[in-house]
Amino acid sequence: MGEVMAVMEVLQSVSDLPVQDPPGEEFSAADLRWVKYASSEHHCDDVALIPYDRMEAFISGECNNPEYPTRFHIERGRKRERGSLKEFRSDEYLLYRMYWCSFGPENYGEGGTILPSRRYRLNTRNRAARPQSMRGCTCHFAIKRLYARPSLALIIYHERRHVNKSGFVCHGPLDRDAIGPGARRVPYVGSEIQQQTMSLIYLGVPEENILQTHIEGIQRYCGSDAKVDSLASQYVHKLGMIIKRSTHELDLDDQASIRMWVDRNKKSVFFHQDSTETDAFVLGIQTEWQLQQMIRFGHQNILASHSSFGVSKLKYPLHTILVFDSRQQALPVAWVITRSVTKHDTSRWMKALTSRIHSVDSNWRIGGFIIDDPTSELDPIRNVFSCPILFSLWHIRRTWLKNIIKKCSNTEVQREVFTQLGKFMYSIWSDANPMDALGQLFQDFVDQTTFIQYFKSFWVPKLEMWIDTIRNLPLASQESCAAIEGYHLKLKLKAYDDSQLDALQRVDWLVHKLTTELHSGYWLNLYADESGSFPEVKAEYIASTSWQRALHIPDEAVLFDDKEPVSAKVASQKDASQMRTVWNAGSEFSLCSCSWSMQGNLCKHVIKVNMMYAPRKDVQPSLSFQSFQRVLLDLWQKPLDDSFSLDLSVAWVMQMQERIQKVAELAASDGIAQVAGKLPIQWVNKRGRGTAIRRTSPMHILPHSNGSMQRDLTMKRNRKRRRLSNFSG
Ligand SMILES: [Zn+2]
Ligand SMILES: [Zn+2]
Repeated sequence: MGEVMAVMEVLQSVSDLPVQDPPGEEFSAADLRWVKYASSEHHCDDVALIPYDRMEAFISGECNNPEYPTRFHIERGRKRERGSLKEFRSDEYLLYRMYWCSFGPENYGEGGTILPSRRYRLNTRNRAARPQSMRGCTCHFAIKRLYARPSLALIIYHERRHVNKSGFVCHGPLDRDAIGPGARRVPYVGSEIQQQTMSLIYLGVPEENILQTHIEGIQRYCGSDAKVDSLASQYVHKLGMIIKRSTHELDLDDQASIRMWVDRNKKSVFFHQDSTETDAFVLGIQTEWQLQQMIRFGHQNILASHSSFGVSKLKYPLHTILVFDSRQQALPVAWVITRSVTKHDTSRWMKALTSRIHSVDSNWRIGGFIIDDPTSELDPIRNVFSCPILFSLWHIRRTWLKNIIKKCSNTEVQREVFTQLGKFMYSIWSDANPMDALGQLFQDFVDQTTFIQYFKSFWVPKLEMWIDTIRNLPLASQESCAAIEGYHLKLKLKAYDDSQLDALQRVDWLVHKLTTELHSGYWLNLYADESGSFPEVKAEYIASTSWQRALHIPDEAVLFDDKEPVSAKVASQKDASQMRTVWNAGSEFSLCSCSWSMQGNLCKHVIKVNMMYAPRKDVQPSLSFQSFQRVLLDLWQKPLDDSFSLDLSVAWVMQMQERIQKVAELAASDGIAQVAGKLPIQWVNKRGRGTAIRRTSPMHILPHSNGSMQRDLTMKRNRKRRRLSNFSG
């Protein structure tokens, strides 16, 4: 790598700077000619000008520097709308991002700036659990997409050397500390490899397999020899021991234990309010990785809240904020442990969460927020996120089905009661009083005393509130219901797997479970999916929601019976002679004969059958389709006179239509490249299709309308999904 850079005169404007476009899939700082540039803002930094669409190529090149292999993460970002400035300098930004070497900026070595952690000893108790990645590296650069010339990006290299504050090289083969007795052989363990190794240990993968991937990982950073391998083996073994012996109990007293945890994990806590006589306990947890995912997948997209988990079992219920990743799987990006649902407390933690996001990306904003509990306070969400609120039926569907199965023994009765409850839901928008449908149900199943009693005492008093919520908020799709339920099941599996019942009453135990096992599991899922390593983990992750599993069922496996228009049969994929029956097909309240459905879950057969019902004219659209239609009808029926307000409304509607059109194009197209080429910003990047979709989709809501377009799209979308799943599976 050529370090030489001819220092020429110091430029005062970037207008005359030549644009450089080095060939190749990626390039680095060494391939560019750097010029000194001084302005009021920059204290004479190295700058270079490249085409904006080569930005990713440059960042990749910088990451793959053979002397300092690393990753660069976005430390800060800002954005500005086009046309918002009347006067501007030649270096004013449209988009500003500061990238920092991931071995910095913090120094997690014990003792601060002197970095003794680099000589960490494997036989020192507990040391291996400390991250070896943060070494206080100061290497960082900024990229500005120019306001005056948006097709160009200005790179400002503030610090090109990978050194710490004391000026010493702090990672990579040239690290001075790596020269000296013993130290050279200590392999570097970047945060990615450490997280990977930890995740594999939590997943219970055999040690020899973990060791092999661990060694492969560190060899990317420091070459290989027998010593490295043997030290790596010790490292993996010790880490395993530490994890096995690690405990949630930092103190016998739960409250003291949590205070200690909060103190030791400041970077992962975005809100903490201790319980006092006047205040309720609130703990908001978000790791650095979750923060990045929330920025990445939440921007101009949907957030969902999975609320009141463990209301009766846990000391304090758990509230999770979810995003939907590039496969539309729910990913937990923040956990809030509290019993308080007051406006005041909710507002406070939500504000803390968004201001944390905005400190990294001030332009971050979401398109919609899905709630699953009608008692949720809506004002804090509206005030903090300023976006529409959608309502998900996953929870009510699941609770009703589980209780029907538990309380009615006859399968025919179970099916009939569930169907009737579905009809009740569907009658919410009709002119008939929905309570009449309910009265009929009570009459028809008067002998099902256990269930009817439960329903009357538990649900009837709340029904009005539920109906109001369903009438007033648009409803979320079945795909997002399936994704949220997928998260719920994973959470349940992890949270309740301990047999120590008393542990459930300790907050420190819940925090430990979330931040170790559950976090590691999700980290590895996404890593496996995006890096292509661990194909088995990836396959299991993809198949972890019913929606994804439904995409693997071929259309031929579904049989419709004309005599029984509301039921369908699905042949088993493993044994074609085995048939599942789906009753009340085409509705959110379908029920299937398979064991998964009989445990209260939304199964793949129901989803598959509903996917095929969607294009049919003789079936009424699902509740979420219907609620979308209502939104459009409401809009259509707004009284307007022929005035200026009409112009404004037309402009807004056109804007909305354009955005929805874009989502439709993306959903129906065969590849992102076709659509991306037409977009104002070129998002084509080699990180893959998922990322690209995320950044371009203005809203996650699909354009389901009532006419032929809806059917057309649904079919195309299903076909495309199948192709995708075939491809990746
Ligand atoms: Zn560095
Ligand atoms: Zn089923």
